[in-house]
Amino acid sequence: MEQHDFRSSRYAKVLVQEIRKLSAERKARIVHVCGTHEDTISSHGLRTLLPEEITLIAGPGCPVCVCAAIDVDMGIELARQGHIITSFGDMISVPSTSSSLEKERAKGADVRVVYGAHDAVEIARKNPHREVVFIGAGFETTAPTMAVEIIRGPPENFSILTSLKVIPPAMEILVNLEGLEVDGFITPGHVSAIIGTDAFTPLAQKHNIPCVAAGFEPLDVLEAIRMLLIQMNEGRSESENEYKRVVRPEGNLAAQKMIADAFKIGDAPWRGLGVIPDSGLFIRPEFSQFDARKKFEFPPIESVDILPGCRCHEVILGMIDPTECSLFGKRCTPEDPYGPCMVGHEGTCRIRHESGGL
Ligand code: SF4
Repeated sequence: MEQHDFRSSRYAKVLVQEIRKLSAERKARIVHVCGTHEDTISSHGLRTLLPEEITLIAGPGCPVCVCAAIDVDMGIELARQGHIITSFGDMISVPSTSSSLEKERAKGADVRVVYGAHDAVEIARKNPHREVVFIGAGFETTAPTMAVEIIRGPPENFSILTSLKVIPPAMEILVNLEGLEVDGFITPGHVSAIIGTDAFTPLAQKHNIPCVAAGFEPLDVLEAIRMLLIQMNEGRSESENEYKRVVRPEGNLAAQKMIADAFKIGDAPWRGLGVIPDSGLFIRPEFSQFDARKKFEFPPIESVDILPGCRCHEVILGMIDPTECSLFGKRCTPEDPYGPCMVGHEGTCRIRHESGGL
C-alpha cells in the first residue's frame, strides 16, 4: 500500500462497514496507550465514524504527561543550582509543583531545548567547566537514544536525570482498574517497534484481552479495531500485528540489548498514578557517574503531582474525557497549560483541545 492509501476515504468506508458488522451484537471498549494514536484518532475524527457500540479510550500514552512532578522538580532544583539543563521542548513547558523549567528560564536559569541526548552531550563538550544535565523522559522508544550516549562514554560533565517508563506494567494497572473495563488494547506502534508484539502476549493471555499493534495512519487504527473485534468475536486473546511494515514479533533486538546494557528495571512514580512496580528504567550502577540522581545533592522536595482542580490523573487513566475537566479550555489551554496533559502534542487534553473536542 502507498502512503496515501492509508488515508483513503474509500478504504476507510469499507473498514467502517466491517467494523459495524463485527460490532453489531457487542459493545467494545478499546483502549490505546499512545499519544500519537490519540492524535490520529482525534485529528481524523475517527470516533465520529465508529458505531456507538465502540468506545475508543485514550490511556497513558504521553511521556511528558506521566512524568512524575518529583522528576520535574529535581530538574528545577538543578537549574536553580546553576547547571545547564537540557530537555525536549514539551518537558521544558510542563507545569510541576510550583514552577516549570520554562518559568525558571524566564528567571535566568540556563535551560535549553534539545532534540535528544546527543545534542545535550554536544553542549557538555562545548562547556567543559559546567555540568550539563539532560532530563530524559520517554518510553521504550526514546530509551535507546539515551542508552547509546551512556554506553559510548560521554564527557564527565554530562549526566541524565531519567524519567523513563515502560508501557506493559501501566497496561496491567488499566486492566485492574475498577470502572474502566478494557475489552481490547491497541498497542503503541513506536513502542512495539522496540519491544515487539510478543511483549504483549503475556498480558493478552493473562487477562483474556486481545491486543493489536497499530501504525499511525487513520486506516491503521481502523484496521486494528477490525482485528480486535475479530479476536473478540472468535474468543481469542492474542497479541497481533497490524503494523507489519515496521513492527516485528520479537521487536528490535539491538535496541533491546542497548536498553538492557544501560538501564535496569525498577519501580517508578507516574504522575498522579503513584508508583507502578517494575515500570521504570534507571541507569545501571556501573554508569552512575552519568546518573544525575546519584551525582548531585538534592534537598528534600515536596512534590505535588496533581494541582487543585486538575483531573489529569483521571484523563491519563482513561476514566474521563478531557472535556469533563472544568478547567478545560478555560483556566487550562495550550498557551497556558495548568496540567501536564495540555502541554505537548501527545497530551490528550491538548489534542482534544486542538481538534475541537472530537
Ligand atoms: S484540562 Fe488541564 S487541568 Fe484539566 S485534566 Fe486536562 S491538563 Fe489537567
